[in-house]
Order: sequence, then structure tokens, then C-alpha cells
Amino acid sequence: MEVKDCVFCQIGLGKIPAKVVYQDSNVLAFLDINPSNKGHVLVIPKNHFSDLVEIPEHELKPFMAAVKRIAEGVLRGTKAEGFNIVLNNSKAAGQAIPHLHLHVIPRFTGDDLQIGSWRHLKYESEEEMNKLRDSISANVPAGEPEFPREEKSELPKPKVKRRSKKEVSFIKREIEKA
Ligand SMILES: [Zn+2]
Repeated sequence: MEVKDCVFCQIGLGKIPAKVVYQDSNVLAFLDINPSNKGHVLVIPKNHFSDLVEIPEHELKPFMAAVKRIAEGVLRGTKAEGFNIVLNNSKAAGQAIPHLHLHVIPRFTGDDLQIGSWRHLKYESEEEMNKLRDSISANVPAGEPEFPREEKSELPKPKVKRRSKKEVSFIKREIEKA
């Protein structure tokens, strides 16, 4: 799929407007216009990857670190009691847009939402969306100064138990006997 044909690439490039709650150089998060609960956010990598299998791990690590912080923003910003993270991969799994996107869905006791059978609510007004956008955005914690690099640890040397001369000669004798 080409960038110009992908609605999420277009949102990532700012060519299609969205209610953005968070962005950095790799990641963009915005309100789902058909939320399962109000404050439902989609998180996408700005680069086009069709799904979780396609994204390289070095891009996934900062992506998931951002997801964690965005989820905290959703939780606090909507005053939710919990949240679901949903990642549909492929059409068969319910992925509607073939650009990797992760759903962060705020949850409330008794909200009667069945994850897996999607429902689509409507916002009352743009003002309501703006309020939620601002509230979530303001509650996304600042990132860590540097994403910690993997420690280059040398593998521990395997411990080889040396056999004593006595053991070796015993084994030799046993072999000869056989
Ligand atoms: Zn795309």
C-alpha cells in the first residue's frame, strides 16, 4: 500500500486532520472518531507497517514505551478505572485499516462493552472531543530522557566440569569391558 492511499499515513503526515493526544518523531496518537468508549485512542507508528509482524523490533520498543505513557494519559484523562489494549492484525482479526494501530480503550465498571464485538458511539460535539483530547494530552507523562539501550552483557561462560584422571581411567576401563 502506498502512503498516499493510506488514511493513517495521511493522518501521520498531518494531511488528514485528527484529534491528536500525543506525538513524537515516531509515534502519533489520536481519538478514534467511532469510539468504543469515549476517550478511545488509536496509536500508530508514523512509518507505514501493516501490522505487528511487519514492524521491526527497534521501532517497536519506542512505540510500546509511548503506548504505556499514552495509556496513562487515557486512564487519568478520562478518569477511567481501567483500559484495554487491543491490536487487531489482518482483516480476519478485524483490522479495518491496514496500517498498524493499537487501540487504547478506557473502561468503567458496568460499561457493558464486549471487547471483540465493536460498537461505535458518537461524540455530542466537537467541543466534547476537544475537551477529551486536551484532557488526555495533558495527562500523557513526559518521556524518559533517553530510551535505555540494551545492555551488552557477555554471555556467562559455560562451566565445564573437568573429569579427574581417576574418573577418565575408570570410564576407559568400563568401555574396554563392554
Ligand atoms: Zn500507512
